[in-house]
Amino acid sequence: MERGQHLPGEFELIARYFAPLAKGFPGAFGLTDDAAVIAPEHGHELVAKTDAIVGGVHFLADEPPDLIARKALRVNLSDLAAKGAVARAYMLDLMLPRALDEAWVCGFAHGLAEDQKEYGIHLIGGDTDMTPGPVTIAIMAFGEIAVGRMIQRGGARAGDTIFVTGTIGDAALGLAVLRGALPELDPTSVAFLAGRYQVPLPRVTVGPRLVGLATAALDVSDGLAADLGHICEVSALAAILQAPSIPLSAAARAALLAQPGLLASVLTGGDDYEILFTADPASEAEIARLAQAVGVPITAIGTMVAASSAAEHRVSVLDATGRHVVFDHEGWTHF
Ligand code: ADP
Ligand code: MG
Repeated sequence: MERGQHLPGEFELIARYFAPLAKGFPGAFGLTDDAAVIAPEHGHELVAKTDAIVGGVHFLADEPPDLIARKALRVNLSDLAAKGAVARAYMLDLMLPRALDEAWVCGFAHGLAEDQKEYGIHLIGGDTDMTPGPVTIAIMAFGEIAVGRMIQRGGARAGDTIFVTGTIGDAALGLAVLRGALPELDPTSVAFLAGRYQVPLPRVTVGPRLVGLATAALDVSDGLAADLGHICEVSALAAILQAPSIPLSAAARAALLAQPGLLASVLTGGDDYEILFTADPASEAEIARLAQAVGVPITAIGTMVAASSAAEHRVSVLDATGRHVVFDHEGWTHF
């Protein structure tokens, strides 16, 4: 990296802001070597996941850098949790525009430090470069799981119940709120929904406890309906979702009361970072106990069913009267 106008050199940035984040992880060698070593516990293997976010595409350029850092990290932790893995470490590739100042990097590193404490993980390496484009952040996260136990998308069986953690639609509504929609919404709901968009809450206490319980799982990032569609495709099944069962926060209910047309974005908006999984209906009581134990709601929202052809690997949504619901860009309609 060349020295930027506003930023210290690459090695100063690493030593000042990133090396402290590697402290406590012996295989990171204090970020003074070329590569890192991760030693999984006996009988375990590593689960790896990477996601990049780009300024102006995945976050607004003027968002606080600590929130950007947390989001960049948390979207990866969410994937690991949905696979049943326990996060251990992550790497960070950072492309910085020259015009950024050191305070931005400082705030960014502070956000990472806070989340490292929260999730018990360490930064173990990465790369730092200048870019003529917007800030780009690629994080690769590594988690551990007992050999062969990663929860895949393809394990669902016909008759399995579909479950989801937390509440759905908050982030999509939060983005709408940040863009000035819903001016009539109360300030408490506004703050809650905006926060759910800006800082996802990866369900790290739930995911690892789904190993042996969930037949298939993923985290909801593209939207509930689309992500359930992924499980359908890989499991070669179809799904029936009960719309009235989909868990909504009080703030989301208030938003929908103000603008019922936003219901479609609840189902299709994405950025929820909740865990969507399937399990044998006989596991329902155990799943309820798990939800109780970790303090995260887990709700049954539908059923996996057999599909006779690939064209039928799709998600049907039913309303309270059992009618099919379809939605388009304006909201949803019944037929
Ligand atoms: P190389 O010359 O092999 O590309 P670098 O000089 O880029 O290595 O990096 C030196 C060390 O600093 C390496 O351990 C690398 O993993 C680490 N590093 C560089 N940038 C970052 C970053 N943004 N976050 C964490 N570690 C980083
Ligand atoms: Mg390098």
